[in-house]
Amino acid sequence: MIAAANGIKLIDTEGNEFFDGVSSLWVNIHGHRKAAIDEAIVRQLGQVAHTTMLGLANLPAYELAGQLVGITPAGLNRVFYSDDGSTAVEVALKMAFQYWRHQGKPDKQKFISLEQAYHGDTVGTVSVGGIDLFHRVFKPLLFTPVHIPAPSCYHCRLAADPAECGLKCAAVLEQVLAEQHEEVAGLIIEPLVQAAAGMLMSPPGYLAKVREITRKYDVLLIADEVATGFGRTGTMFACEQEAVAPDLMALSKGITGGYMPLAATLTTDEVYNAFLGDYAAKKTFYHGHSYTGNPLACAAALANLRIFREEKVIEGLGPKIAAIADRLAEMAVLAHVGQVRQCGLIVGIELMLDKSKKVPYSWEQAAGASVCRQARKYGLIIRPIGDVVVFMPPLASTVAEINTMLAIIKRSVTEVTA
Ligand code: PMP
Repeated sequence: MIAAANGIKLIDTEGNEFFDGVSSLWVNIHGHRKAAIDEAIVRQLGQVAHTTMLGLANLPAYELAGQLVGITPAGLNRVFYSDDGSTAVEVALKMAFQYWRHQGKPDKQKFISLEQAYHGDTVGTVSVGGIDLFHRVFKPLLFTPVHIPAPSCYHCRLAADPAECGLKCAAVLEQVLAEQHEEVAGLIIEPLVQAAAGMLMSPPGYLAKVREITRKYDVLLIADEVATGFGRTGTMFACEQEAVAPDLMALSKGITGGYMPLAATLTTDEVYNAFLGDYAAKKTFYHGHSYTGNPLACAAALANLRIFREEKVIEGLGPKIAAIADRLAEMAVLAHVGQVRQCGLIVGIELMLDKSKKVPYSWEQAAGASVCRQARKYGLIIRPIGDVVVFMPPLASTVAEINTMLAIIKRSVTEVTA
């Protein structure tokens, strides 16, 4: 059980220290107990801890909205707050549906999502998800999206070669939209990395192609940057890497630097304007949470963004990303490492029983879980997704700390798969 933390380390009730190799699930960007965030929260406590956003704004929420608009892709000018990643995506789906209703045409009820996608745990987000494990139990409750193949290369069912895989997957999308675009409200995607699927990474150009095709067929593009946002991929947002401006963007996780739940869904003036009109016109967006835009969380988020600026966090990522690449190259040659995948500070190390024939370990062998247990013995917290060992350290980790953490992973993989 965790009792305390210090920098990028967690400390359990017996005083043992562990590197937080998953940033407490993508959120603790600057590590734990970051003085500037601690102080911002205390300062805000001296003003007001909570006030409803129903019909009122509050100062930190107002200021944060302006800053989010300033750092996200062009055109995302409007901010709607909620409380976690799932609801940020749920909001985007509901907003997209209602946007089309306000166009005065027949409802568009379909969403397109990728096979293996994960967008959250609410009924709407599980509906657009593609991971059977999370889907199966709730199937009778869910609406059915149109799934398109995930361009994950190593596992792609259309082509293993990256260039070919991206093109073939995009061609399927084009075909689906050519036939069904009039019924499709939006396409939702985790840009660059499908996280919960096991850090599956799309080949260069795929995201930009998706933007081009969705624009051609007038379908809203929803970027779920809940995991990839706030520097994780090496840029502030993954969409930047392919100069993609989505119509809606869901943010959460790293938004408060790992301090409190907060989420935001950003959208364009065009989508926002479709909701204007008096209450009687029933154009209101029907969604709201009690803690929406909580001032303490927004104060933490403002401090988080200030740290990004003042400590030049993004600018300092280059050597860390390079160190990860070097260590992964050394791990790629291990006998039971099928593939190493990296996008910025997101890493997936996929284990294989037989690497050359791509034969996975059996469920009972649980190689991924065993590696993570072994790493825990050496003072590192990491997580398995099946047999993919995932590693996403705080952006604040030094090169030396990254090297130490990856050395523990290499040792654990070697020992477990020997
Ligand atoms: N979208 C993505 C891409 C995620 O990785 C997650 C969480 N792992 C979510 C949405 C849901 O976020 P939350 O757990 O905060 O509801």
